[in-house]
Amino acid sequence: MLRKVGEAVHRFKMVRDGDRVAVALSGGKDSATLLEALLLLQKRAPIDFSVCAFTVEQGKFLRPIEPLAEYLKQRGVAWTYFRDAPSLRLTEDQPEHGCDLCSRYRRRAVYEIAHELGANAIAFGHTADDFCEALLRNALFTGRLSALPPVTVSRSREYRLIRPLVFVTEDMTRAYAEALGAPIVPCGCSQKTGTVRRSLREMFAGLEREYPHLKQNLLSAMGNLDPSRLLDTRYLHLDGGQAPEPFPIVTEA
Ligand code: SF4
Repeated sequence: MLRKVGEAVHRFKMVRDGDRVAVALSGGKDSATLLEALLLLQKRAPIDFSVCAFTVEQGKFLRPIEPLAEYLKQRGVAWTYFRDAPSLRLTEDQPEHGCDLCSRYRRRAVYEIAHELGANAIAFGHTADDFCEALLRNALFTGRLSALPPVTVSRSREYRLIRPLVFVTEDMTRAYAEALGAPIVPCGCSQKTGTVRRSLREMFAGLEREYPHLKQNLLSAMGNLDPSRLLDTRYLHLDGGQAPEPFPIVTEA
């Protein structure tokens, strides 16, 4: 697991000397694994960086957060628990609100916390499974060949947003978080996964019984584009071999 995180951090230049990395802890197995991986990397890396953690309370946790607080205290991790008042109001006033609104509120809170923590990088626990699902979801349902950015910058350019678990599957985070004994505080929403996501997960699970390296292959494919065999004219040599336009720089809202 650490080798895969190290590979991602190195390949995408996720962490740099002097960084202060704030890890977004959602209460789940993935972000618990991410925090531990970064703490281990911090001890081994030839560069100097600091790690802190935070959790945004949006009124959706199904269990008390205290065991997580106790666990982090024992591990000596500086942790900020942020009760986001606008999110809590949203959950109360509009309990049926969608993911778009919820994540917009969370994003604002995350930037606010990162600012207070003096962080310049924010680490999220998206896994290889999330990248693979996003790729298929976008291709099949939105007509775009894209997944998630492993590294990007916030729109204000104040923060580098990183996803060091890009090569780590959820089979690994499940086993790792269990071995760590990290308390899992489930979110009410993770119980009601949308139908598209559920279908994609079932599809992967079915195919992986026969082709266990499927996600690995998809991740390799994401890093090995052949635009000349796709249909985007921005990257085709239509005018007698003129160089294609460079890929645009993407920022996150
Ligand atoms: S699944 Fe729930 S917590 Fe996650 S973005 Fe959607 S509404 Fe928010």
